Amino acid sequence: MKITGDYHIHTSASDGRGGVLDKARAAAALGLEEIAIADHGCGSFLFHQTEKKFAAQQREIAAAASECGVRVLSGIEASITGEEGETDVPDSVIAKCDVLTVGFHRFLQPRFILASPRFLLVNGWGGERAREKLVAFNTRAWLAVLERYPVDVLCHIGHRALVDAGAVCRAAAERGVYVELNEKHIDALEGCVEEVLASGVEFILGSDAHSTDKVGRFDAVAAFIRRHGIAENRICGIGRKPVFHDKKGFKHTK
Ligand SMILES: [Zn+2]
Ligand SMILES: [Zn+2]
Repeated sequence: MKITGDYHIHTSASDGRGGVLDKARAAAALGLEEIAIADHGCGSFLFHQTEKKFAAQQREIAAAASECGVRVLSGIEASITGEEGETDVPDSVIAKCDVLTVGFHRFLQPRFILASPRFLLVNGWGGERAREKLVAFNTRAWLAVLERYPVDVLCHIGHRALVDAGAVCRAAAERGVYVELNEKHIDALEGCVEEVLASGVEFILGSDAHSTDKVGRFDAVAAFIRRHGIAENRICGIGRKPVFHDKKGFKHTK
């Protein structure tokens, strides 16, 4: 399995260690052709992107790409913050992204929790009580985020927030949204792998590296791919390059 892309990498702009140049050098040393930086969105609890840091990071990205000969994409890992598909990334940042990745995280700033306690508290901290209701509730939120934003990647589906993965992946497939094979949280897909595969969705590799030595490393994902017999040509980052949505001038309407 020849890895050519890693589309989920953190830096010290959020809770990762090391800067863009460190990540690009590590990717170049492994023979990767492209990577995407995807730091946590603006609502993450302690370490997160801001508009200002994001703009500075885009300059770092341009410099690192030209130094290392690796294509470096500017992304962000947004959190779903509410049941109407709200996220923690302003439109002005989304409009400048190459890659918009969305997932569920429970460590968010109080203002987001206060704005949507029913969603964030039940999912992050409430356990699996009333499982069916919770799945229906979360699925509506995931489908709404696909309606509302030019999402490119759904990351670590099933991690922390239970969803109807088949329904979410069918909607993603219709919209050309990739489902991530996340090295840190690949276990979250085990319980729903049949529905995910049957949905026809395409996949993308994301190491979710927070330290530089984890960039481009996919041992757990490789084992998952073998175990479930997933065709490599269905996965971006193994030879194949993804195509992301154009976000220039994006403004959400709902
Ligand atoms: Zn995440
Ligand atoms: Zn991440």
